[in-house]
Amino acid sequence: MNTFKHFIKRNSLKIVENMNNQFFNNIQIIIKDPLPKHVNLNNVLQKLAELVPERFFDGIDGLYIGKFGHLEKRNVTAVFDDGVLYVTSEQDNEEDFLDDCVHEICHAIEQNYGDVIYADGKLDHEFIRKRQEVFQKMIEDGFESAKKFTKIFYNSEYNKKLDEFLYKDIGYDNLSVLTKDIFVNCYSMTSLQEYWASGLERFFFGEGEKVGSLCPVLYKKIKQVTVLENE
Ligand SMILES: [Zn+2]
Repeated sequence: MNTFKHFIKRNSLKIVENMNNQFFNNIQIIIKDPLPKHVNLNNVLQKLAELVPERFFDGIDGLYIGKFGHLEKRNVTAVFDDGVLYVTSEQDNEEDFLDDCVHEICHAIEQNYGDVIYADGKLDHEFIRKRQEVFQKMIEDGFESAKKFTKIFYNSEYNKKLDEFLYKDIGYDNLSVLTKDIFVNCYSMTSLQEYWASGLERFFFGEGEKVGSLCPVLYKKIKQVTVLENE
C-alpha cells in the first residue's frame, strides 16, 4: 500500500460522492486540497466524459486531487500510478486541469495496450527518427551544446539531463519552433512514452488529422488501440 493510501485511511478526506455523473461511478474521486474557485470539477469531468470514450476508463480506480509530494518532487502536474490519477490542485484554469486528466488517461491506456503499441518497435523507430531531425535542426541553428547529448538523443527512454537541457538551455520558445512540423507538441519529444501519450491526448482533443499527417505510425497505433477497444 503506498503512502497516500495510508494517508487516506488515517484521515477522513473529502470524498466526492454522487457526482450526478454515471460515467465516474467506478472511480473514487478524492479531493485532498481544494481546487481554485474558478476551476469547477464537475465542468471538467463533464468535458472529460465527452472527450474520452467510457471504455478507456478501465483500470482507473481513483482520481486524487491535491498537492502531492511525489508530483512536486518530479516537477510534474499529474501522474498515473497504480490505478490512480494524481492531479495537482494548483490549476490555472479548467483547460489545464482537463489536459492533465486526459494526458494521464493516455498513460493508463498505454499500460493496458503496451504490446500493441510497442512490441513491433515501429513506434520507437518513428520517434527516434523525429528526434534525429530535431537534433539536426538544433545544430544547424547554432545550438552547439546539443552535441553533448548526441547519444542520449538516440535513446527513446526518459532522460532527466536531456529534459533539463531542452527546457532550461534550449527553452520552450525555441523548442516550439524546432519541433514544429515534426512533433505534435514540444513535450512529445521527451520520451517514447510521452510521444505516445501526447499523440493520443491530441487525438482525443480532436486533432487526429494533425497526428496522422505528422506521425503516421503513431496514428496507426492509436487507430489499432481504438479498433481493439471497439471489438
Ligand atoms: Zn506523460
